Amino acid sequence: MHNPGHRFQAQERFADGAQYIGGRLGKGTSERAHTVVDPATGDDVYTYQLAGRDDVDAAVAAAAAAFPEWSGRTPGERSDALHRFAAVLAEQADEFAWAESLQCGKPIKLTREFDVPGTIDNAAFFAGAARQLAGQSAGEYSADHTSYVRREPIGVVGSIAPWNYPLQMAAWKVLPAIAAGNTIVLKPAELTPLTSLMFAEAAAEAGIPDGVVNIITGAGPEAGEHLVGHPGVAMTSFTGSTGVGKRVAEIATATVKRLHLELGGKAPFVVFDDADLEAAIQGAVAGSLINTGQDCTAATRAYVQRPLYDAFIAGVADLMAGVRLGDPFDRATDLGPLVSYAQRDRVAAFVERARGYARVVTGGEIPGGDLSSGAFYRPTLIADAPQDSEIVQAEIFGPVLVVVPFDTDDEGLRLANDTPYGLAASAWTRDVFRAHRATREIKAGCVWVNDHIPIISEMPHGGFKASGFGKDMSVYSFEEYTQVKHVMFDNTAVARKDWHRTIFGDR
Ligand code: NAD
Repeated sequence: MHNPGHRFQAQERFADGAQYIGGRLGKGTSERAHTVVDPATGDDVYTYQLAGRDDVDAAVAAAAAAFPEWSGRTPGERSDALHRFAAVLAEQADEFAWAESLQCGKPIKLTREFDVPGTIDNAAFFAGAARQLAGQSAGEYSADHTSYVRREPIGVVGSIAPWNYPLQMAAWKVLPAIAAGNTIVLKPAELTPLTSLMFAEAAAEAGIPDGVVNIITGAGPEAGEHLVGHPGVAMTSFTGSTGVGKRVAEIATATVKRLHLELGGKAPFVVFDDADLEAAIQGAVAGSLINTGQDCTAATRAYVQRPLYDAFIAGVADLMAGVRLGDPFDRATDLGPLVSYAQRDRVAAFVERARGYARVVTGGEIPGGDLSSGAFYRPTLIADAPQDSEIVQAEIFGPVLVVVPFDTDDEGLRLANDTPYGLAASAWTRDVFRAHRATREIKAGCVWVNDHIPIISEMPHGGFKASGFGKDMSVYSFEEYTQVKHVMFDNTAVARKDWHRTIFGDR
């Protein structure tokens, strides 16, 4: 298959290299190169030299040098810069959508209508939030003192992002950090550096000073670990798998850094017997296939109360079978490829192993014909899998939905909570009491009722349990990138304070 639709020439655009340090692009100092591949066609898109430790050191130094001036600006000045940033992103929206679709294989419908507008809205949100840091009011909490709280930026933030939503992840990391006055070094995934580099260039175009946003594109164990352990970095913010997150936590803890982890997910989708069945079927297909299932909040485990079980399976299988796979640049395409052949093969291996203990209702195959040169995989529905099986418990990160029946509400909610993860979940019911119970009892950072997937700049995104801690988006994430300082003034102007009696007694 050929992608005639894309007009993004990555090799020319980033001919100078893929390291954006102190406002300039340069070549990486690692001995290894990496080639970005279009997963829809297998064509090479961009070959670049990976970042070495020296690039990380240079990026941290550039961020540290930019910190005093940037953190010294008023909130209003930072807000103005972020408003201009949002405007530049909006002007370049088409180019961002092409580049994101090209490097990830995402349908252009998705990048145009979700990834890119979401990113512009995030920039606008944090432009507003920059002026709205709230704190406890100043006051005489002790009769002899006046206290107030300062929220201060932390310093240089080191962030690491995954490949599934490269642009949005760059936005979620960079925007709250710089809105609060920090400077940042971001490492995108090696597979998908293009839109993070464009994002940093757009920041510069908006007048955000050189060194405030730096991008190093390197391998996890080499550049990533060096960034996390770097003594010049005050905070690590990581989004990725739980396994790598544990390693990142070890290194960050050893160097006593502030830590923010957004990790894996295995979202349950709980359908009670009074649910609108058609809405649940539509929601399950859209919620499990978004971004070809490579979404940490995707619907992955549908628990369906017994009376609706068979009809739900039939409806989902039918709708999945009509999903159109194809060229991501064709607006008629519903589902693009996986991000890479390795990811496609990993997903296929999960499904092959599941055949031994469960029923593959639809999908479960690598398509041939025109699609055979890309990393495509058919939408897949699996039924009759035991709760403790791999396909129910592990994060697959592909277009695969597993459906499991339940009898009582207690059982449905217990099963929903029965994985190590706790990122997102949904409950489908027309009964307000059931809905409230589900939102209370499901242990996840987000619970939708009668929908699954929507996110919004004003609301927090982040996990419970093995899905991590800390929030992206919203004022909660803004606060994560600040540290709280208590300032206390003596009001008495006497040398021997009242509390000194605890030292001097009654002398
Ligand atoms: P990954 O954990 O393999 O990689 C994530 C990032 O970490 C990449 O930039 C990678 O280069 C880097 N990395 C790898 N090894 C490292 C190391 N030893 N030290 C430092 N950095 C290292 O994840 P992925 O495969 O890129 O992305 C998919 C995962 O991300 C899924 O588990 C998904 O659930 C998760 N995710 C979570 C959220 C969330 O908000 N919770 C959002 C998106 C993706």
